[in-house]
Amino acid sequence: MKVVVGHLFPDYLNIYADRGNIAVLTRRAAWRGHELEVCALGANSAIRPGEHDLFYVGGGQDREQELIAPALAALGPALREAVDCGAAALAVCGGYQLFGRFYRDQSGEELPGAGLLPLHTVAGERRMIGDVLLECGLEPGERRTLAGFENHAGRTILEEGAEPLGRVLAGFGNDGESGYEGCRVGRVLGTYLHGPLLPRNPWLADWLLAQALAHRGGGDPQELEPLSDELEGEAHTVSAERARTRGGRF
Ligand code: GLN
Repeated sequence: MKVVVGHLFPDYLNIYADRGNIAVLTRRAAWRGHELEVCALGANSAIRPGEHDLFYVGGGQDREQELIAPALAALGPALREAVDCGAAALAVCGGYQLFGRFYRDQSGEELPGAGLLPLHTVAGERRMIGDVLLECGLEPGERRTLAGFENHAGRTILEEGAEPLGRVLAGFGNDGESGYEGCRVGRVLGTYLHGPLLPRNPWLADWLLAQALAHRGGGDPQELEPLSDELEGEAHTVSAERARTRGGRF
C-alpha cells in the first residue's frame, strides 16, 4: 500500500534530527512492502480529508515557531477535519506546542496554535533539558516505555480530562511537575521527545504506521509483521539508562 505523509513546515521545524522520524517510517514501511510518499505542507497548503494518512511536525526554536505559527494555525480546521476522518499525527516539541491552543514564548508573545490538542504552553525561565523515559499504554492493557531527549522552555498544561501520552519515569515531561508527558487524542500524538524519537522506539513507529495503513486501507489497525530491531533495542536501552541516571535535573 502507499501511505501518504504530510510533513508540516519541514524547513522551519526540524531540530534534533526530527527529520529522522520520517526516515524511520519510510524504512519500516518498505521492510513490510509498503511505500511512504512524503509531501511537504506549508502556508496555504490544501489539506483535504482522506488525502493524507499521517501528519508529522518536528520541533523548533521560538524564532522559527514565530515565523510559521499563524500559517499552521490557519491550517488547523483542515487538519482537524482530516484527523476526524481517521488520519494519524505525530507532533514533536515545538510542533507539539503549536498543535495546542497557543504557545506564549520566551519573549512573551502568544503564538496561535492549530487547536488539535487540548492544551496550552507557557515558556518558563529555565530550559528543561535532558534524557527522558516514559511509560505509556496506547493500547488497552499494554504498557511500553518511550525513551528520548527533551530541550524546552515551554511548560505545557493539559486541559481537564485530557489524556497524556505517558507517565514520566525519568525526566521533566510536560512541565516538570505533573509527572506526565505529551498528549494523545485518538490517533493524534504530541510529545516533547526528540532524539529523534522513532529510531529508539520502533514500537511507536509501527503503531503510527498501523494507524496510517488502517486509514488508507479501511478497517482496524493491524499489528505489523515484527522486525528483529536489535540495534533499535540497544539504542532504547542506552537512552533509558541515561534518563534513569541523569534525567530531570536542572
Ligand atoms: N521553542 C520551544 C521551547 O523552547 C520548543 C523547543 C523545541 O522544539 N525543542 O519550548
